[in-house]
Amino acid sequence: MTLELKKLADYKDIMERCIRCSMCKWIPQVQIKSWKYAQVCPSIDEYNFHAYSGGGRMIIALSLLTERIGYSEELLNIVYRCTACGACAVSCKYLNDLEPLEVIEALRKKIVEDGEGPLPAHKKYMKLTEEVHNPYGEEPSKRLDWLPSDIKVSKNSKLAYFVGCTTSYRRKEIAIATARIFNKAGVEFQLLGEDEFCCGSPILRAGGEAQVLDLIKRNIKAFKERGIETIVTSCAGCYSTLKADYPRYVKHDFKILHTSELLEQLLKEGKLKLKKEVPLTVTYHDPCHLGRCSEPYKEWHGEIMEPIPLVRFPVPPLPLRQGTYGCYYPPRNVLKAIPGLKLVEMERIKEYAYCCGAGGGVKAAFPDFALKTAGRRLEEAIDTGADTLVSCCPFCATNLQDAIKANNAPIKFYDLTELVLKAMED
Ligand code: SF4
Ligand code: SF4
Repeated sequence: MTLELKKLADYKDIMERCIRCSMCKWIPQVQIKSWKYAQVCPSIDEYNFHAYSGGGRMIIALSLLTERIGYSEELLNIVYRCTACGACAVSCKYLNDLEPLEVIEALRKKIVEDGEGPLPAHKKYMKLTEEVHNPYGEEPSKRLDWLPSDIKVSKNSKLAYFVGCTTSYRRKEIAIATARIFNKAGVEFQLLGEDEFCCGSPILRAGGEAQVLDLIKRNIKAFKERGIETIVTSCAGCYSTLKADYPRYVKHDFKILHTSELLEQLLKEGKLKLKKEVPLTVTYHDPCHLGRCSEPYKEWHGEIMEPIPLVRFPVPPLPLRQGTYGCYYPPRNVLKAIPGLKLVEMERIKEYAYCCGAGGGVKAAFPDFALKTAGRRLEEAIDTGADTLVSCCPFCATNLQDAIKANNAPIKFYDLTELVLKAMED
């Protein structure tokens, strides 16, 4: 059995091996720096019943699979009040080798396949994506409306800037900054324009596997037709979907880079010159899907041994996806290269970072929960003494900026590319 295209029933052993230890609610003990910032699951933080944790959702999934419970409105509400941030999966592996996030996503797929879900807000954006190729319902012909007339785009480049739906339609400042940096640094790039379809991330997280397959095939065909070899994304969701999820469905050999990785590479090559002082004290928020959720899946072929009753383990051991190899250093290295800028860290960072609250379909279905989670992250950012919060994802940018406005919080927000552009300007 590979890790690919598994159904909920294929995770039965994992669900049965959950020892109800609750490690998935906290960052691993050796990483805890204070009681205030010890928790890691936004869902248990907000709703505070075991059912809302990674382990709790495993119990729900097993109960549903073994028909001890049936579908209800409450069940759907619990399953979808989770940002699919993957923090539970990292923490669980400090003691166990289970995959709570895999189970949550398989549970959502089963709910959709059974015709019981997803929630109305998810159905709405899925339908819009089918009709106009983006979850916002915007005109495909307006996908490049952000593009300033003085930006040079090359039709023959083997590098594509995959702008993404949120950056194209909602966070245009990130697209503009990225394209300007590329031009100034001499990076030739293609844009797919109307041929760029949603990467499928919001649909996949809500359980819409059948629909996402069409998008994957469509996007891969568009890349191949244009001779693309490298794809650069602004969005953490696009990045992890193209890098970690696409190969589970369709094998591809495109090189997937996040803008922060390309910027770090340009710095090393001396093509990115950051000369202007940007006198800010910043703290950096790790987007979950740029970090721990971006690790590619590895195939596993083996069997579950049970030498004595109830003691089961996989032979050979399962390849663990612990977030260790996520993209953590490129954005930090780029920030550190900006003159006059001081980087201070929050307590929960890298694979132990606290989610911004927007992912997993939560921003669409439970906007208040999304805002409260972002508020918690802002508090942690402000506690560092930073005057500016920086991140690398348009979806995080939207939710964190919404929370700054809602809380009148004493902190500014910038995307990494906006600060890099400031440091490049004459
Ligand atoms: S999912 Fe993992 S960490 Fe959470 S209760 Fe189960 S075994 Fe413990
Ligand atoms: S994916 Fe995130 S929000 Fe969902 S249960 Fe795990 S830690 Fe909690």
